[in-house]
Amino acid sequence: MSVIRRLKRRVNGFEISTKITLGYALCFVVLLIVINFAMWLGVMTALYSPAEKTIRYSMEQIKKILDELEENYGTYNPNDFRGALVVGVVLRAVDERGEVFIDTDAKYPSIERFNKGILTDPPIFADSEFAVARIGSALVYRAQMDYTHDGETVTLYFFRTITSELTLFDNLEKFLLALDFFGILLAIGVGYVLSRRILTPIKTMNELAREIAFEKMSGRIPIGTANDELNELAKTLNKMLDRLQGGINKQQKFVSDASHELRTPAAVIKGYIDFIETYGTADEELLKENLKVIGSEAQNMQALLENLLFLSRTDQHRQKLNKKTLDLDDIVGDIMSKMKTVVQTHAVELTTNAPAKVFGDETTLRQMLRIFLDNAVKYTPAGGLISVASTLAGNKVLLSISDSGIGIAPENQTKIFDRFYRIDSEDLVSEANGSGLGLSIAKWIADSHEIKISVASELGKGTTFTLEIPTAHES
Ligand code: ATP
Ligand code: MG
Repeated sequence: MSVIRRLKRRVNGFEISTKITLGYALCFVVLLIVINFAMWLGVMTALYSPAEKTIRYSMEQIKKILDELEENYGTYNPNDFRGALVVGVVLRAVDERGEVFIDTDAKYPSIERFNKGILTDPPIFADSEFAVARIGSALVYRAQMDYTHDGETVTLYFFRTITSELTLFDNLEKFLLALDFFGILLAIGVGYVLSRRILTPIKTMNELAREIAFEKMSGRIPIGTANDELNELAKTLNKMLDRLQGGINKQQKFVSDASHELRTPAAVIKGYIDFIETYGTADEELLKENLKVIGSEAQNMQALLENLLFLSRTDQHRQKLNKKTLDLDDIVGDIMSKMKTVVQTHAVELTTNAPAKVFGDETTLRQMLRIFLDNAVKYTPAGGLISVASTLAGNKVLLSISDSGIGIAPENQTKIFDRFYRIDSEDLVSEANGSGLGLSIAKWIADSHEIKISVASELGKGTTFTLEIPTAHES
């Protein structure tokens, strides 16, 4: 048991190619042994069986003649014996004194010679009642039978040659053994070379995987021409690397953009503090103004950090949504009435607010609406109009947020949803500062509520964002 376990542990430590080769060679050896054994068994049975049968038949015939002789003694004719024997079977009768008095083939090897050649452990095919002797290059079978007449017992010997071509069989056996040996060597050699060849791509993959690091993701596994599983695996791994690299690049860009965005408010705050430190706090008016700027920058920074944290939660699938059936008209009405009181610079109107139930997370839905409304105010010069309408269309609510602002050029209408994307424009309203995260957050919220966003905009005329919000199924 422990030998097997030790062997198993040993084999487990081998390379796959060695394991395949060993397994393959083992199967081959077993197959060779089975084939050789079957061949040997077949040949031997074919040799022994007819010899045995003819001897037995001849013995029966002779016995019959002897029984007849018992009755009509004196009509004995040695030729009767010869005729009763099957061709190839030789009969010899020996009297009590050891003298041969019947011999159907005088040229056949003598009994003494046979006795000298008797095999002490005859082959398993041989009948145990028979004796087998090796005489020169021949194998000979012998059966014996005692016959008593008038108080005298004679012994009858029956001989039959099993094969006279023993050397041929010996040679054949040696030849087969040599063939087996070379066959096994060949199997091991070919198996080893083939398995090495097959497994080379795995080695390459392993080496490459060892080299790939966070900073060095450019390496890819070479794809061969074969259309096999290993190439398929290499392709899959390469695709996985592409995805990982894409993700890492995005992450790195996000970190660098975020740091860049945070630098501005931090620098402004530092500048104003330096100013206060240099010029003192004597001028109260100036101090108040400076503190106001610092406060507003700190607020910007806080808003930016909130946005960054939100996006990082969405990236990690950690942003929680507490979805319920909501009255959308209540939410829209509430946001709009607050907006009317806060926004003094623009005209704000809610033209229609159809009663509608939606299924969603109230906090993020409000956040999404505020993002669109903030933008509408931010990118519309003072005096402009911001108009909101919510209408029902089938099983959807169409919520449109329109402004009479600077508009968005067609080529930018898809890009505005990208993180940190802001349009560089000279018409930009002076205080329109931001980091370009608002719409990417709004897009995430919309996607997680199956809300479709469409943009219609014309430069200099205004923009309308339309949200198609599925209504909640009444249950
Ligand atoms: P943030 O919202 O993070 O403070 P932001 O407003 O610049 O910054 P987004 O809300 O994502 O970022 O908007 C991206 C860009 O799309 C804006 O910079 C602006 O150029 C353009 N944009 C968005 N809404 C409008 C609009 N209503 N009219 C004109 N341009 C708009
Ligand atoms: Mg915005």
